[in-house]
Amino acid sequence: MANTTTHAPSVAFVTLGCAKNEVDSQEMSAKLVRAGYLLADDPEQADVIIINTCSFIQAATEESIDTFFELAGLDRVAAGESKIVMAGCLPARYGADLEEELTEAQAFVPCSREDDIVQIVAGLIPDFVPEAPVLTEEGTIGANEYALTTVGDNPWTAYVKISDGCDRMCAYCTIPFIRGHYHSFTLEEIERDVDYKVASGVREITLIAQDTGRWGQDFAERSSLARLMDHLATQFPEIWFRVMYIQPEGVTDELLQVMRAHENICSYLDIPFQHAAKRVLRAMNRRGCGDDFRNLISHIRDEVPDVTLRTTLIAGFPGETEEEFEELLDFVSEAELDYVGVFPYSREDGTRAAELEGQIDEETKQERAQAVRDLADSVSAGVIAARTGKTMPVLIIGTEEDGQLYGRAKCQAPDVDGVTFVYRGAPGEIINTEIAGTLMYEMEGD
Ligand code: SF4
Repeated sequence: MANTTTHAPSVAFVTLGCAKNEVDSQEMSAKLVRAGYLLADDPEQADVIIINTCSFIQAATEESIDTFFELAGLDRVAAGESKIVMAGCLPARYGADLEEELTEAQAFVPCSREDDIVQIVAGLIPDFVPEAPVLTEEGTIGANEYALTTVGDNPWTAYVKISDGCDRMCAYCTIPFIRGHYHSFTLEEIERDVDYKVASGVREITLIAQDTGRWGQDFAERSSLARLMDHLATQFPEIWFRVMYIQPEGVTDELLQVMRAHENICSYLDIPFQHAAKRVLRAMNRRGCGDDFRNLISHIRDEVPDVTLRTTLIAGFPGETEEEFEELLDFVSEAELDYVGVFPYSREDGTRAAELEGQIDEETKQERAQAVRDLADSVSAGVIAARTGKTMPVLIIGTEEDGQLYGRAKCQAPDVDGVTFVYRGAPGEIINTEIAGTLMYEMEGD
């Protein structure tokens, strides 16, 4: 059936939440572009606005709904000329309830249906017939379906998702209900994705998932994250590889050896410990304790001496006593981690923790989270300052408005760890620079 509309409809994405959502948005946008739709930067100009939502905690849910009402207020939406699609975690978590509430939205696309985005958008604009995707001999969607999922709008660094879902069922977490069971993507899929990005000029690949350390363990022929990283680092020797969101149990000697063996694997581990008090960790349905984590950290530092360590911690979990909170603070002081993300516990409907006795009042939660934050900042500032005088490679990723060049060293992950200011080179280049000074999380090259 021929297209009766004169111009290709335009689609704008508004992406909320984590790096995994960024990847999903860019993969949906790649499918739409290959089907003949145009991408619009400005939602006000778009025929379809896709809000890729986050809903893992209440604050994120509220932000997603506020964003929806803000966009529903646009003239073209109000006039019915532009359609809104709610995608991602919010429709996955709230399903039909959401559809009853947000009647102005024309479609709801939970994470599990994002592959059907072309069909769904086509249903909203019937007078435009999208092009069919290119299929391989096997009848699967070809390599050119992959998106150049760069980090933000910078072409030198990209995320690659290696699995989705999670089966750990931490008592405070909604993600298993939103993203479903854990499932690894195949080595072939991941390698094609990496290959596509490298061919597009990317110099750094960050591997992400909810539980990266479990990669390959659900295959008939079991594999491991260590083998995946060994393979990718060997196949793409000029590319930096980094892994985020690896649970303590996922840090194996095999992985540490592979990390030590490859110069192009960043000696960087993001290990969410969440707390240090044993009773609190058990209430969270998590393993380990402060001593286990301290032992793991010193073992990692023995095996990979220049390693950079990041973690996330939750303060104010139901039942957390003053003593257990002190244990958390002691852990932060003694572990001397490079980077620490801190969250006040968020009571989420449908989670086991929401039903626990001893819920802590909001003010106390915020105070405890701030205390951990302040302590972590003072500890990390010292750890980062100790990098002064060291020479390290920096991937230059851009220039500030005043022309100042900046980049990231291997010890700085995208979006969360600050940047390094440098005075020579150009974006996309990797230069060796001596760290002349630091200011909190920022570093300055010679
Ligand atoms: S491992 Fe992470 S994603 Fe999985 S349930 Fe726990 S907190 Fe949620």
